[in-house]
Amino acid sequence: MQSLQIRLGLNSLQGGGEAAGAPGALLKSEWKGVGQLFGFNPLTVPVSSRNCVTRAGGPTVHQQSRSRQHRGGYGGHYEGPKRSRDDAVTRKMKSFHEGSDGPPLRVLPIGGLGEIGMNCMLVGNYDRYIMIDAGLMFPDYDDLGIQKVLPDTQFIHRWRDKIEAVIITHGHEDHIGALPWVIPALDPKTPIYATGFTMQLIKRRLKEYNIPAEGRLRTFSMRARFDAGPFEIEPIRVTHSIPDCCGLVLRCADGTIFHTGDWKIDESPVDGNVFDRVALEQLQKEGVTLMMSDSTNVLSPGRTTSEADVAEALMRKIVEAKGRRVITTQFASNVHRLGCVKAAAEVSGRKLVFIGLSLKTYLEAAWRDGQAPFDPAILVKAEDMDAYAPSQLLIVTTGSQAEPRAALNLASMGSSRLLKLHKDDVILYSAKMIPGNETRVMKMMNRIAELGPNLVMGRGENLHTSGHAYRGELEEVLRLVKPQHFLPVHGEFAFLKEHELLGKAQGIRHTAVIKNGEMLGVAPLRNGRVLSSGFSQLGREKLKLMYNDGDKAFGTAADLCIQERMNIALEGLVIASVEVIREETKYLNEDEVYEDKILRDDDDGDELGLQGRVRITTRCLWTDNGKLLESLQRAADVALASSRKDARLPTIERHVSVVLRKVVQKYSNKRPDVIVIATDASDGVVPNRSSPESINNYDQPRNKPQPWKRAADSMSSFSRGAVVGTVEPVDEVTSRSFVAEETSERNKVVISSRVQSETVSAKAQRLSSEGDATQKNERVKAGDGGEISATSSGFSDPEEFESDEESGDSDQEADSVASDGAASSLSQESTEEIEPQKKRQKWRHDETIKLIEVRSTMGDLLVKEGKKRRPSWKDIAASLSESGFERSPEQCSSMWSSLLKKYEAVVEEKRTRDSSVPAPKKEWAYFELMDAVMQKLAKTAGSQDVVIEKAKSKKPKRKSKKPKVDATAAIDSTEVELPDSEDRQTAQ
Ligand SMILES: [Zn+2]
Ligand SMILES: [Zn+2]
Repeated sequence: MQSLQIRLGLNSLQGGGEAAGAPGALLKSEWKGVGQLFGFNPLTVPVSSRNCVTRAGGPTVHQQSRSRQHRGGYGGHYEGPKRSRDDAVTRKMKSFHEGSDGPPLRVLPIGGLGEIGMNCMLVGNYDRYIMIDAGLMFPDYDDLGIQKVLPDTQFIHRWRDKIEAVIITHGHEDHIGALPWVIPALDPKTPIYATGFTMQLIKRRLKEYNIPAEGRLRTFSMRARFDAGPFEIEPIRVTHSIPDCCGLVLRCADGTIFHTGDWKIDESPVDGNVFDRVALEQLQKEGVTLMMSDSTNVLSPGRTTSEADVAEALMRKIVEAKGRRVITTQFASNVHRLGCVKAAAEVSGRKLVFIGLSLKTYLEAAWRDGQAPFDPAILVKAEDMDAYAPSQLLIVTTGSQAEPRAALNLASMGSSRLLKLHKDDVILYSAKMIPGNETRVMKMMNRIAELGPNLVMGRGENLHTSGHAYRGELEEVLRLVKPQHFLPVHGEFAFLKEHELLGKAQGIRHTAVIKNGEMLGVAPLRNGRVLSSGFSQLGREKLKLMYNDGDKAFGTAADLCIQERMNIALEGLVIASVEVIREETKYLNEDEVYEDKILRDDDDGDELGLQGRVRITTRCLWTDNGKLLESLQRAADVALASSRKDARLPTIERHVSVVLRKVVQKYSNKRPDVIVIATDASDGVVPNRSSPESINNYDQPRNKPQPWKRAADSMSSFSRGAVVGTVEPVDEVTSRSFVAEETSERNKVVISSRVQSETVSAKAQRLSSEGDATQKNERVKAGDGGEISATSSGFSDPEEFESDEESGDSDQEADSVASDGAASSLSQESTEEIEPQKKRQKWRHDETIKLIEVRSTMGDLLVKEGKKRRPSWKDIAASLSESGFERSPEQCSSMWSSLLKKYEAVVEEKRTRDSSVPAPKKEWAYFELMDAVMQKLAKTAGSQDVVIEKAKSKKPKRKSKKPKVDATAAIDSTEVELPDSEDRQTAQ
C-alpha cells in the first residue's frame, strides 16, 4: 500500500508502486558518496547491496556432492565443515549453472533482493524458467532526472529462450512497471499472465509505451491451475493493498515452490476477499520444497491492522469535519481505500473529487474489470469544484510522498492550478512516509501548516495500514506452510537476513539469503525427512541496472550519462566559444600535410599570437559576482595569444579547455566539465572534412570555402558526452583519432573526427593505463567521470604536458585497458570500447623514428638494388608492420623522401646561415637522427646519393647545446605546439 509516487509524469500512473522501502534513500546515499569517489559510477557500484559482486575467476559448474553440502546462501552464511572449500568455489563462480545435472529447482533474482522495488525473479526447473514479476524501482526524486530504474533487460534478452512465461503477482509498479522494457527483451511468443485487474493496468501501460502484446496476454483466476513453462501454476489469493493479489504455487515433478507475492493478512478486507489460509494448509500437507516470502516489514513487530480499521478512521474524521472542506491523500493504487473514502463522502453528503491523474487510472482499471467500488463517472471534475461550497467537497489527491509534480505538493507551494489550500481545510494524510522521502514530505507538511489547514497524520490516527505483513503474520505463514527451504525475498538485504532468522526460529532448517544476480539451486529433501540436500550456489553474474528518463530514453548508466549529469551538477560546466581569426591560412593537400610539418621549422615564437574572439558562460558554478568569468576570459585570451597562428581548431579547443579548467580549479577548487567550440571566423577559409578518413586533411583548394558543419559536429560530439577540446592528442604529426563505440550496439556513434574526439573515457582509459608512471600528470575529472589529463598553457607547469606527449601508442594502451577493467577507474557501465583508427593518414613520431631506423639498416639493400627497384620499400613496410605500424611501401617511400628533402634543406640552411644571426633555439627534431643515418648510409653504400653527399660535405658544426639525440628525445622535441617551448626544453 505504501506507494512510491515518484517522478511519474501526469500522463503516467502515479502512485503505482507500493514498496515500503527507500529506493530513493539508496540512490541519495550513493551519490552523496560519489562526491568524494570520482571515477566510478555510484549507480553501478552502490553503497547498498543493489548489485552483487562479481569476482574474478572462470566459470564453474557447481557439482558438489549433495550429501556433503548444505549451506545457506551467499552472504557469509555457511553450514557444515566444508566452509573454506565452499568459499573458494563461491569465489570462482561467475556464470550460471546450466544443464540437467545439479539441483532441479533453480532461482535467479534479477531484481528485488537487496533493495525494495524492481521485483523480477526467474524460477526454473533445470533450464526452463518462468519470470515472476517485472517491476521497476523509483530513484530518488532529485536523482539527476532519472525516472525509473529497471532490471537488466540485456541479460533477460540473452536468456529469452529459457524464459517461457511471465507471471505477474499483482499490479504495483514494483511488479509490473518494467514490462514495457522487459516484454521486448523476451521471445515474441512468451506469454504474460496476470489477474483481470492487474491485466487492465498492464494493458494500459503497454499502450502508453506502444508495446504490442495483445496476443500474449493471458488472465487467470485464483485457484485455477494453468501450465506455464515447466510448471503447473496455481494462484492463491493473498491480501495486500491493491485488488487481485496472488501468491503462486509452482508445481513440477521435482518439487513444489510457493512464492507469496506481496501480502499481509487482512482479516476483514473491504472487498471481502480474504487471505486464503485454507490453500496454505493444503500446501503444507502436500509439502513445499521452497517458499519465498515478502520481507518488507520483517522489522515491524505484531500484526498489521485491517483496511477496515482505516475505513472507520477515515469515516470518523470526515464526518467530524463538518462545515469544512476535506482533502485526503493516499496511494492511488489502493482502490479499496478509494471505496472507503467514497463511502465517507456519501455518509457526510459530500461530492467526491479526484485531483491527480493516477487516482482515476486505477479506479478505471478496476471498473473495467468489474471490481471498482464505484463508477468513476460519478466523480465531480476538479474544474467544476467552484460550483460547490467547500463543506460539500471531499477531495482525494496524489502527492503523499511530496512528489515534485503531484497535486498536494504543488498546492503546498501555491502552484497547483486545480487545488488551492485554505486555512479552513482539513487534510487527512492517509499514507505513510516512505523511508527516504521523509525530508521532503516534512517540508511539504510545513508549507501546508503555514497555509493554515488542519493536518491529520500520524500513527495514532489510524489513517493508514501497511500492505505488507508484520512479523506476527510472517511467522504465522512460515508455520502454516512449513517449507523445506526458505528464501526471503522483496526487501533490503538486512530485511532478508532478519527474515531468514525468523524462518530458522520457526524450525526451517534450510534457509538462504541471496542477492540479485545470484543463482540458487534447490533439491527436494527425500521423503521430507532425509536431510540429503539443501541450497546450492549455482553461480552469479553482475547484472546491470537499466534506466529510463523521459518517454523514450532507456539504457545503462553510461547510455544515460548519469555520471556526466552528476559531474555537471556537482562540479559545474564551462562553455566557451572561440572564433578564430586568421590572417592567412595555408592549407595543404594530403601528402603535403605531414611534409609540411616535417619541413616546417620549429616555432621560435614568431608564429605565436593567434587572434580570436572568446565568449564564455558557466552553469552550476559560483562566479563570484562575475570575477570568475573575468578570470576565465583573461585566461582564454592569453591561451589564444600563446597559441600558434596556424594551430588547428581541435588543438585550440583542447588548449583553451585545459586552461579554463585550471582557472576554475584554482579559483574555487571545482573541476568543471569544459566545452570549447572553436570555429574559424566566417570570413576566414575553413577546411573541409567529408569523412572520418579525411581527418586532418586540409585537402581543399585554398580560398575555396566549404560549407562546413563543424559546429554541428561539435555539438553532436558533446551532446553525447565527449568534451570537445579536451580530446585531442597534442601534436599534429602524432595526432590520431579514434572511432569510439558505444558499449551498446544499437547506439553506435562515430565521434566527429575533425574534432578528433578521442572520447573522454577513452582518454581516461589511456591515461589510467599510463598510470603512475606519469606522476607529473595532473588528473582532472571530466565528463564521463574518468580522469583526463590536465595540461596547461604557459602559465602553468610545463611538465604536465608529458603524459599527453607520450600517448603515441594510445590505441594499444586503450585496448589493453579495455580488456583489463581493473585498470580503469571508470565503472564498467561507462566503459567505452576504443578502436584504433583503421587508416591513419599521418606519421606519428614513433613511426617516423622506426622508419628512419629501418631505412638505415636497409641501406645496402636499397642502394644495391638501386632506384629501379621499389620492392625494398615493401621490406621496410613489412618491417614497420612487425613493429605494429601499418604503412604501405608507397607511404614509406614518400615519407622518406620528405625526410630527405627536409634534411637537405636544413643542411643547406646551416651551411648558408649568417653567423651574425643567432641560430634557432630548436633544431629540426629529426636532424641529428637523420644526420647519423645519412652518414651511416653513405659509409655503407659509398653513396652516390646526392642528398647524402651534400649531407656529408656540407654538414656544419653543431652549435646546439642539446645532448646527443636519441629517438625519445626526437619525439619529445617536436611534440607539441607549445607557447612555452623554451620552458619545455628546459623541463626535459
Ligand atoms: Zn512489491
Ligand atoms: Zn505490492
